[in-house]
Amino acid sequence: MDHIIDGVLRFQREVHPNRQALFHELALGQAPEAMFIGCADSRIVPEVLTQQGPGSLFVVRNAGNIVPPSSTEPGGVTASIEYAVAVLGIPDIVICGHSGCGAMGAILRGAESLEKLPAVARWLHYADAARDAIAANFAQASEEEKHNALVRENVITQLDNLLTHPVVADGIQNKQLRLHGWVYDIGSGSVHTYDARVHKFVPISEDYFANATPTD
Ligand SMILES: [Zn+2]
Repeated sequence: MDHIIDGVLRFQREVHPNRQALFHELALGQAPEAMFIGCADSRIVPEVLTQQGPGSLFVVRNAGNIVPPSSTEPGGVTASIEYAVAVLGIPDIVICGHSGCGAMGAILRGAESLEKLPAVARWLHYADAARDAIAANFAQASEEEKHNALVRENVITQLDNLLTHPVVADGIQNKQLRLHGWVYDIGSGSVHTYDARVHKFVPISEDYFANATPTD
């Protein structure tokens, strides 16, 4: 922890004074360009991946980059989505999965691996549709292939869950909101994005229309 506290002190001493205009502006409010829903994994740093600074991304991270479906249960992800869309008017939501995801690995290993982690087990039930799709379609695949397929399928499942939220459905219907489903490969740095026009993940590019917003 020592070098983390050292980092705060260095931030106060060196970084903040050198960017005063930015921090004074940010002190007045935020107008982020996108909401980023990613995994809590320490290797996923949304601002590094997207080369953004403070004020640009409205970030929610949790085990498995999961979005619980809309319900009356109180929930941090749901509340954050509602605030991002209804109050901040965020025009884009990214759900980002990643290679080597511990949550996806736990799903593949099955319920026994989660016996001592009841909260994780309950949380990962929000990815059951992805788990079932992999069990049905990748039964003969290698563990690595299954893992990579589950990471992608989970992004699709969470995009579906996102659509159950009334603020999201309304935003899409009114053409004020776009969805993006990404998979980031930590080792290579590649990012694939779900293209709803072809129902496939494609390498991310400047193609503005390659996104996960439903096309019908
Ligand atoms: Zn993960």
